[in-house]
Amino acid sequence: MAELDDLLRQVDAAVDEIVRFHQDIVRIPTVNTGQMPTGNETACCEYIRDRLAAEGIGAKILESAPGRGNLIARLKGDGSGPNLLLMSHLDVVPVEDPARWRYPPFEAVLAEGRIWGRGSDDAKAVATAGYSAMVLLKRSGLKLKGDLIYTATADEESGGFYGYGWLARNVPEEIRADYALNEGGGYPVHSRRGLVYELGIGEKGRVEVTIAIRGRSGHASRPWDADNALVKAGRVLNAIENYRPEIDLSSPVFDYLHEVDESLGRPSPETLEDMLARVKEIDPQLSSLLRALSRMTLTPTVLQAGVKSNSIPASAILKCDVRTLPGQDEDYVRAELAKVLAGIDGVSFEVETWARSTQSPFGTPFTDVLRRALAAATGREDVRLIPALTAGFTDSQWVRPLGIAAYGFAPIHPESETVRPGVHGIDENFAVRDLLVRTKAYLAAAYFTLVEGL
Ligand SMILES: [Zn+2]
Repeated sequence: MAELDDLLRQVDAAVDEIVRFHQDIVRIPTVNTGQMPTGNETACCEYIRDRLAAEGIGAKILESAPGRGNLIARLKGDGSGPNLLLMSHLDVVPVEDPARWRYPPFEAVLAEGRIWGRGSDDAKAVATAGYSAMVLLKRSGLKLKGDLIYTATADEESGGFYGYGWLARNVPEEIRADYALNEGGGYPVHSRRGLVYELGIGEKGRVEVTIAIRGRSGHASRPWDADNALVKAGRVLNAIENYRPEIDLSSPVFDYLHEVDESLGRPSPETLEDMLARVKEIDPQLSSLLRALSRMTLTPTVLQAGVKSNSIPASAILKCDVRTLPGQDEDYVRAELAKVLAGIDGVSFEVETWARSTQSPFGTPFTDVLRRALAAATGREDVRLIPALTAGFTDSQWVRPLGIAAYGFAPIHPESETVRPGVHGIDENFAVRDLLVRTKAYLAAAYFTLVEGL
């Protein structure tokens, strides 16, 4: 362990260098509007490639479209151990009103121990930590059994179609690994039993449902002669509000609640509400997450109808966001929707899958490596992990079908705030101490996996 201790000391010694790298990549705007041309991730990839070249690490940039660069760098092992993939995305969400920001969003100002700017957290803090871990591992000269692969990619904020989706489809051999670390987990949770972090083992799926509601138009002065599609839409909304999704407690997260509080056992559908209320007293965010992991959600988000205030609309379109659990496929969503809409005439719906729910195993030698890496990074031998699924999308959904066990593991300091209002909002920022803990966690995970060999 002397080797690892020495490696981790190198992280503290390199703090200025790590912060400067982070500022440099935040200052390269890689805003992804979702409408081409957009992103311009290549500019950021080129900066990282040049920095890696200066360290003697080769990297390639693969463009899925002009300007949509994906960087892949590799430290070769001797082939006698598993490969580890470090994932991160370089694109960031747009800034709505820069004038409302405390510091200009692309200047990466360092103040109050934090770097401020769009992407400073989501997800360039992951990109910086992965880069720094790779560089420090290379400088150490330690012999690796497996490869360390580092990627900084495009388009995650719009579903990854020009980023990991493109890589998985076109060059899967470039990203093939046994294990992957990505955003989407690795945060401390409040617990009555010491230090507990949640490890992201999967994501819920995302399905978009479009409901077409048909009526008959007419003059607004004689509503009885028409069939108002908007009024009918109200009936549909009412049915959705009254929908009671099936309670599904098969997620492994429900097996580990005793790590949060000894008195919490595995809930049943009958005891779930009581359990959620008790968890809420300890950690309201965890309680909300557990609710999301116990059911499919069906949420109306867009309603379009009518063109003129004196004409009765003949049609309306209602869009809903659906988040599914593992095993809930399109057919399941269709069957649930048919139940919800039963009895309302003139409605039909279409279902489009944006992302399938995927998950990787928990309680394996590799998830134990992650626990030990976290213990080394935080100096807390007592740290424990609980598995969790995130309700949102991450690029891990693209790599799991390739047979890669991918985990949301982007840890922060045990005492740092886990609520991140700046992510996708104003005043996004990331603490320097969190950057150091995350870099150490990646370095330690790489050490256990690639140097010691799993
Ligand atoms: Zn992200």
